[in-house]
Amino acid sequence: MDRVLVVTGGSRGIGAEVARLGAEQGYKVCVNYARNKAAAQDVVKTIRDNGGEAMMAHADVAEEADAKAMFRLVDQELGPVTALVNNAGIIDQTGRVADMTAERINRILAVNVTGSFLCAREATLRMSKEHGGPGGAIVNVSSAAARLGSPGEFVDYAASKGAMDTFTIGLAKELAAEGIRVNAVRPGLIDTEIHAAAGDAERVERFRTAVPMQRVGSAAEVAEAVLWLLSDSASYVTGSFIDVAGGR
Ligand code: NAP
Repeated sequence: MDRVLVVTGGSRGIGAEVARLGAEQGYKVCVNYARNKAAAQDVVKTIRDNGGEAMMAHADVAEEADAKAMFRLVDQELGPVTALVNNAGIIDQTGRVADMTAERINRILAVNVTGSFLCAREATLRMSKEHGGPGGAIVNVSSAAARLGSPGEFVDYAASKGAMDTFTIGLAKELAAEGIRVNAVRPGLIDTEIHAAAGDAERVERFRTAVPMQRVGSAAEVAEAVLWLLSDSASYVTGSFIDVAGGR
């Protein structure tokens, strides 16, 4: 049976590494993106150049119609999804809660939380044995911020990741008897472009010494944990978390 992997936010950073490693491990991969088409094209090209099968799909995961359309496209081009990585995530400028607008908070929750729910729903409808599917696996990309709270930086983002953790526990229990495992990884300080999006490209270097291992992690190191959780090697693992955070 074909193994079909959907990676939300697969165009850059952690998602791009998950897409590439997944293809290497034999998945047909859907690389989702929101704005950066060229980056998604690059990931798809790399996979194809290495002999893998991949497609790209534009969808803002926070938009219900987009999420539904993406999974329908995957049905047509690769076959029904068997593995989902809810990786798409956003942050905003560093700041204090006292200065946060409703618009900012709502957008972060919409992409990070609602988007993960919507994609998990579409995947469940195709993977669940209750719905005639073969079973499957979901990995949510949470954050160490869910444990740390990110005071003075982005408590809204940290809280959205806390919601993803609770979502992981609940969905894992809800789907355990239907052949779907649901787990999460909590990356720590990982070297990607998300820090520049927070208006603080130097953040990675500044916080490096707060990490017990005294270094930042790479997107590839996070991807290894994600692919293990998706794999049959993790067949009795559900509702679990792997911290990929250098001891933080
Ligand atoms: P990144 O380099 O900024 O990449 C984010 C990805 O998400 C891009 O592919 C982006 O696509 C996509 N995306 C953003 N909004 C989207 C939307 N509405 N719909 C669909 N795709 C969307 O970020 P990253 O560092 O790799 O982060 C990936 C995940 O890891 C996030 O959930 C993040 O919270 C989590 N994480 C990261 C770190 C870290 O230190 N880097 C630590 C802990 C957790 P476009 O460019 O096309 O918009």
